[in-house]
Amino acid sequence: MKSSTPSSPPFMRKFDFLLILGILLIALLFWWIPAKDNGQAAVVRVDDQILHTLPLDRDTTVTVAGHGHHVTVAVKNRTVFVVWADCPDQLCRNTGTIERQGQVIVCLPAHCSIAVEGTAPAYDATTY
Ligand SMILES: [Zn+2]
Repeated sequence: MKSSTPSSPPFMRKFDFLLILGILLIALLFWWIPAKDNGQAAVVRVDDQILHTLPLDRDTTVTVAGHGHHVTVAVKNRTVFVVWADCPDQLCRNTGTIERQGQVIVCLPAHCSIAVEGTAPAYDATTY
């Protein structure tokens, strides 16, 4: 029957509470840390070569060419997005807007990437 573990419900409740609290704390941490690292500039690369560094506090539009394709990148209201591209898949356009450090829009046909970078060190993999 069920008389074997009389002390289990209070323990489980305490454990569940701690677990939920832990998950909430972690979620809060993940939500809070990227919010602090708002990007400073959009770095436009073709074949790992930086063609443009666009400050996010200035609205601009640039068009880059790579491997027979063209990508028009716009900065507006501190967000970055691809306005127009003549690549066949249109994945870069469909990515939408990016604004936080570490977010990237990639156009594979043009070998083009647009990355939001900031002042805080985000990752070591891109340091040369
Ligand atoms: Zn594309």
